[in-house]
Amino acid sequence: MITTTDLTKVYRSRGREVTALDGVDLHVREGEVYGVVGQSGAGKSTLIRCVNLLERPTSGTISVDGQELTALAGRGSALRQARSRIGMVFQHFNLLSSRTVLDNVELPLEILGVSGKQRTRKALELLELVGLAGKAKAYPAQLSGGQKQRVGIARALAGDPKVLLSDEATSALDPETTRSILQLLRDLNRQLGLTVLLITHEMEVVKTICDSAALMRDGRIVESGRVTDLLATPGSELAQELFPVGGVPSAEDRTVVDVTFQGEAATKPVISQLSRTYNIDISILGAAMDTVGGNQVGRMRIELPGRFEENVVPIGFLREQGLQVDVAAIADGPRVAASTTQLLKEGAK
Ligand code: ADP
Ligand code: MG
Repeated sequence: MITTTDLTKVYRSRGREVTALDGVDLHVREGEVYGVVGQSGAGKSTLIRCVNLLERPTSGTISVDGQELTALAGRGSALRQARSRIGMVFQHFNLLSSRTVLDNVELPLEILGVSGKQRTRKALELLELVGLAGKAKAYPAQLSGGQKQRVGIARALAGDPKVLLSDEATSALDPETTRSILQLLRDLNRQLGLTVLLITHEMEVVKTICDSAALMRDGRIVESGRVTDLLATPGSELAQELFPVGGVPSAEDRTVVDVTFQGEAATKPVISQLSRTYNIDISILGAAMDTVGGNQVGRMRIELPGRFEENVVPIGFLREQGLQVDVAAIADGPRVAASTTQLLKEGAK
């Protein structure tokens, strides 16, 4: 639904060059919720602004719904038309304070040339859709943050978009309001078949509603994929962030293994089987169960006696049971986790 190919963006200001995007290949499937995470300055906003051509990329192409936007002329009506099929939601809502809620939602319809009565009917429908039917005559200043964002979402839906872009839409909201806005985005995604590309620095957002995710750093996508696949990818930074398990080895000659359970594998008594089969004592250093993208997932960090070479067979046994076993993360898992946590915290500033 959204594809960017070798996208680059170089900003030039006061003789200085900043490469905000450095060869980004993004692929968002139709009907999915796709999250892009990364620290502040990673290029997330630039990427999303390029997707609807608010920002012209320096090179590379962007296609949305089978149409190559980068091939359309700058001020042409074809581009305007294509853009109206891409809704955008902003962190600070960007509502006009002198207009009522209804008028704010009517504005894009006005620009699209929809006539008076029809415009009002459509805007009221959209307000109903986002749960704000009772606030049509209110002014933005009279609304809570969550309500303002609902207006922002209603306005973004005015052109019946197939794609909704969201740049930190919940960053200015408290946790409870964040949850209700995420739920709304999920509902719209399901009800309208809307493809959602969102940017966030909060892993909780990815965990709650994203089907797929990408991690950006220095203008590049360093990791991407379906969340369930990422969780099953050895050494995945996103997986470790989404689902951190703590725990340090009790002694040097130990092998620490992160085991991820998804679906059917989660119900098997594998750890006791492992212990019995190989007659080894296993310590659990950390464990957690959670729901990620609507799937029940478990993660456990266990410790086996002896070095890795001595545990090749038991580790093979775990893999045969259909479990994701991440041995590579032993040496640098905690370090990677700590640095990414740091990055995302910095992104929050
Ligand atoms: P993020 O949204 O991940 O924080 P941005 O896309 O906003 O990152 O910024 C990426 C880089 O591009 C940063 O180094 C930022 O300073 C720079 N940048 C963004 N917008 C502009 C601009 N209009 N002019 C010059 N540099 C910019
Ligand atoms: Mg940004």
